[in-house]
Amino acid sequence: MTITTQRVHWDLNYDVHLGATWGRFMAGLTERKILANRCPDCSRVFVPPQAYCESCFVRTGDWLELPSEGVVEAFTVAWQSFRGGPTPPYAIAGIRLEGASTLLMHYVQGLDLSDPSGVREQLPPGTRVRAVWAEERTGQILDIAYFEKA
Ligand SMILES: [Zn+2]
Repeated sequence: MTITTQRVHWDLNYDVHLGATWGRFMAGLTERKILANRCPDCSRVFVPPQAYCESCFVRTGDWLELPSEGVVEAFTVAWQSFRGGPTPPYAIAGIRLEGASTLLMHYVQGLDLSDPSGVREQLPPGTRVRAVWAEERTGQILDIAYFEKA
């Protein structure tokens, strides 16, 4: 008999070091600003921002504020719960904010998720959505509470 795995349980709270780039992004969210940055070589605009361009391997440069509206490029619905997650069902979308080269993953609310067969038509690619801000913002991604159809 070969034993290769063993079940272990971890339950711990810990602080994640954000670094300068994500720290600035999170600080912007407290002021209802979605900050992005741009690669000086290829001009791609990253949101969430990145310290380096993954294509050009150079440090990103300019910071800019993006509008809080964009379009859904893809989405999925979680029908099962998992520990620490929201109560299903809920939708998560890849959202291209105006001016962004990358997708921001976030919740989309306001959909009728009671019938799985009717979900796809509610959020076709290209659907315009806008951010709904949390009443109280503390510098985390859920300072944008969710997106809704614009
Ligand atoms: Zn680049």
